[in-house]
Amino acid sequence: METMTAWRVERPGPIATHPLQRVSLPVPEPADDEILVRVRACGVCRTDLHLAEGDLPPHRPGTVPGHEVVGTVERTGAAVTDPPPGTRVGVAWLRWTDGVCRYCRRGAENLCPHSRYTGWDADGGYAQFCVAPAAYVYRLPAGYGDEEVAPLLCAGIVGYRALRRADLPPGGRLGIYGFGASAHLVAQVAIAEGATVHVVTRSPEDRELALSLGAASAVGDAPPEPLDAAILFAPVGTLVPPALAALDRGGTLAVAGIHLTDIPPLHYQEHLFQERSLRSVTANTRHDGREFLALAAHHRLRVTTTAYPLAEADRALADLDADRYSGAAVLVP
Ligand SMILES: [Zn+2]
Ligand SMILES: [Zn+2]
Repeated sequence: METMTAWRVERPGPIATHPLQRVSLPVPEPADDEILVRVRACGVCRTDLHLAEGDLPPHRPGTVPGHEVVGTVERTGAAVTDPPPGTRVGVAWLRWTDGVCRYCRRGAENLCPHSRYTGWDADGGYAQFCVAPAAYVYRLPAGYGDEEVAPLLCAGIVGYRALRRADLPPGGRLGIYGFGASAHLVAQVAIAEGATVHVVTRSPEDRELALSLGAASAVGDAPPEPLDAAILFAPVGTLVPPALAALDRGGTLAVAGIHLTDIPPLHYQEHLFQERSLRSVTANTRHDGREFLALAAHHRLRVTTTAYPLAEADRALADLDADRYSGAAVLVP
């Protein structure tokens, strides 16, 4: 039997306790509706860290993380005609939905109660190969290398949904709190669409990156003018009240993360009155994904990546935990 190198979450816990273990596994077999993908690059997402550390409870034991997978179709299941072998595809977080529930039927498959996720419900891309349902993979824009296109698959797509959920008016003022992989992509999309972007982050390197990408300001505390919309990327609940307070009348704050520490009590007058809104963002639909990737094909995004060999996936997660790099980490087999 053919085997491959992969990483599994053996015992979720603090990253210092080495929750990821490097193992040798059989190369997976695609089911009838699946494709087998030879992994060329896999982005490291904060959700992988939440899964490794147990902030998100495991859905099954010993799962291989990784849901920003770029690879080529190696083989297809019996029922698959598209994409054919040799095609470059992306395997992302949303892996499967039932297609029949009230949410799926109204175009909100991101809310499907039976949805499944790559690297949580099924093995993902911290490996040399993975399988994925053919109907849920993406064709990728030309003009981006494997390593730089990987972060678009979650950081990019989910960030894009957060931007749409923030209801930024044309030419509006957007605040971005936290400036990691997702934020640095979304900032470029917003700027390309005519927004004025203010970045709030405590990291001096990230502030520098934000300004170099065209942000109007990058500060450590509060934006210099009221905001029409804001996105909270940092998984820090204590930032919710100041981000709401920074909104102009009618402004919206979207929380982009899947996990957030507790939000302190809000003061109605200071944080919500004057029709300010607080919204969450839950995953994405395939429509969001296709729309964002089409946009990325049109507006060339600058993707800042730090490559790690697949053999050092645990170090990549530890570096993410310690904020030791700017942009996005990408594993390369
Ligand atoms: Zn559904
Ligand atoms: Zn992700």
